[in-house]
This record gives sequence, C-alpha cells and structure tokens, in this order.
Amino acid sequence: MQRRPSLWWPTPARPQRFFSDADLSASLAYNHPLRRAGLLAALSRLVLLVLAARLAGLIDQAMADDPATSETMLDSFSASAIPALTGGVLTALALRLPSNVADAWFEYRHEPRVLGTVPSPVRWFLGVVTATTLLFAAISTVGSWALFQLVGSREQWPLILSSAIVGSVIAVTALERSVRHWVKVRTGRICESGLDPARADFEHLATLFGLDGISFLCERGRASETLDAALPAEHSPVSMLDGATAYTTGIGPNRRVVVSQKLMSEPPATRNFVVAHEIAHVSARHVLVQTLIGTTSAIAFVWICAALAADGRPWAWFGMEPLSPCSLPILALIVTTYSALVAPATSWLARSHERQADLGAFGAVGLQDLDVIRTLYLAPDIDLEPPWWVRLYSNHPTPAERLEFLRRLGVGRSWA
Ligand SMILES: [Zn+2]
Repeated sequence: MQRRPSLWWPTPARPQRFFSDADLSASLAYNHPLRRAGLLAALSRLVLLVLAARLAGLIDQAMADDPATSETMLDSFSASAIPALTGGVLTALALRLPSNVADAWFEYRHEPRVLGTVPSPVRWFLGVVTATTLLFAAISTVGSWALFQLVGSREQWPLILSSAIVGSVIAVTALERSVRHWVKVRTGRICESGLDPARADFEHLATLFGLDGISFLCERGRASETLDAALPAEHSPVSMLDGATAYTTGIGPNRRVVVSQKLMSEPPATRNFVVAHEIAHVSARHVLVQTLIGTTSAIAFVWICAALAADGRPWAWFGMEPLSPCSLPILALIVTTYSALVAPATSWLARSHERQADLGAFGAVGLQDLDVIRTLYLAPDIDLEPPWWVRLYSNHPTPAERLEFLRRLGVGRSWA
C-alpha cells in the first residue's frame, strides 16, 4: 500500500503513462504556438512598459521645464489630468497591445473554423485589437488614477485596510451575481432545464459533504449557443463554458456550483466526480480563502508602492518626481513585477486546493476507473505537457499529476 500523495507538492507523473503518443502530439501541436505567443506577449509587455515609462518621463520633464504650463498646472486638477491621461493611455497600450494581438491571432486561427465563417483578416485584427485595447485603455486609466490617489494618501491606512477587506467580501457576495450576469453576455448563457436529469444527484452529493443551500446552475458557452449544440470533440472550446467543465463561485448563502452544458452530456460517473470536486471546494471554503489572500496581497501591493514612492528611486530612474501625474506606466511596471513575483505563491496554493478537492471528491463518491475523468483531458486546448514556466503560474496541477494523484489513492485504469 503506497503512502497517500502530498496535498502540497506535485506527485511526480509521466504524461506517457496516461496518454497515447497521438494524444500528446495533438496537444503539443495545438498548445505550442499559444505558449510561445504567451511568453512573447509577456516579454514585449515588459519592454513596452519600460519604453512608455521613459516616454512619460520625457513628457513630464518637458511640461515641468515650460514655465507657461507649470504655472497653470501646479494646483489645477484638470491640467494635471492631461499628463495622467497620457500616462494612462501609454500604460494601457503597453499592457494590452501584446496580448490583444496574441489573442486576436489565436482567435483568428481557431474561432472561424469552429463557428463556420472566415472573416477578412484585416477587419478581424482591427476590430478585435482596437476594440479591446480602447476598452482597456479607459478602464486602466481610471483604475491607475485611483491607485495613484490611494498610494498618495498614506495617512488613511486604517480606512483603506478595512474598506478593502469589507469591499472584497461584498464583491463576492452581493455584487458577484450581477457581475456574473454582465460577464455572461460575452461568455455564455444559463440553460434553464439543463440540470434536470442530474439535479437530485448533485443535491445528494452536497449532503454527503454535510452541506445544504448550495445552488446549482447550468451554463453554456458562446459557441454552443451559435451552433445550438455542444461543440464537436475535435474543436477547442471558444470560451471556457463550451468545454466540459464546472466551477464554484460565491460565499455564504450566495455559493453556487456552475456546470457547463457540455459536462451534462458526459456519463453520470464523470459529471458526479467533477461536481463532487466542486462541492469539496465549497466545503473547504476555498473561494473565501483565495479572496482574503487576494485582498491581503492587494493591500501589501499598495503598501509597497507607497514605500517605493517615499524612497523615490523607481521614479528617479525614469527622470520623474515620485508619483508625478505622468508616472502611471511606472506604477504599472511595479504592478507587473509584483504580480510576476507573487503569482507563483498564490498559484501554488490554488494547486494544493485542487488536490484537496480531488481527495474530497474521491472520499465522497469514489472512482472506479481513471478513464472516468481522463477522457475530459482529451479536449484539444488542454496542454498535456506544459513546460515549467507554465506550471509555475498555473492554478491547476497538470492532467498527468492529477491522474497520478488519484492512481496513488488506489484508482484503477482500464484503457489500453
Ligand atoms: Zn477545482
């Protein structure tokens, strides 16, 4: 009898043990360009941010050197909003353009085939890239301006701290429902009677965890909507909800397990294991824990920014006074560096939550055969062999790790 695998560290696993060579090479062919685009987008974002900060520094200096502007600018909000806006737009371009181009390229390559239409490449790129970049420019200018004000008001710490905690809990309880409703306009629709054949099973599963009052919801994605059916197996899901998937959301009375329409077409053993996994997340309060960690991290970030502003060095490198209105690209550079450093730790915790949920599901419903969930990993967009830098930032263990974890708990296998 083997020792129970660790909840905190990956179980060493060879993908070849669970997937055929054909499966592995299909996954590689599909995901390899994506990984390269992701890495390229991250690197060019960093380079663009440094250039944007440099450019903003030059604009800042030019405005400070011009007596006519500095006289009118000093005390007036409307005048200082112009350099801030310049900084915001530069930041937005630096942050979004690389990934928008990468996303547009990816969608152009895959989505038209799924949806059955091939648009003009020029219109596609101009449409997708311009619309999303402009939208993000507006959001990030407002957001960075708020951050800029927050970092400048350090005496208000107790107020900032308590309102951040209260605000984030309110966001996932009260506001979450309406935000989800708005987001669904892009990602999918609720399918009213989609859960009916399994609702009693799911409610029974919740009682196995000693929980009641969880609501279950079925949603379907954009492509399933257009095609009015689940996507053919060989196609990648256009949005997450087009795949066979489920997720947990909300805190307290608002907690919900959302099941995709495609998952409902899987055999009962598969969908029950996946839903039991989600209920195990609810039972262990993972949404609450991750929300509080996210809030703590955001507060730590504002504190670090304030400390850096007091020191002044990052601003001086780009020839600016600390927290000059033009310096939003510098704040964005600090945000990017901070999240690149902190995300591996939060992803590590999220991966351990996934193992806890798999263990919980196994304890509650058992699993006769690894094939019951192995087949879910055969969707083309799932990376069966992610490289280390993808794993470092991933919120889920790799498919092979999860299967090896279950195998060591004693689950058998039946495929050839
Ligand atoms: Zn999970």
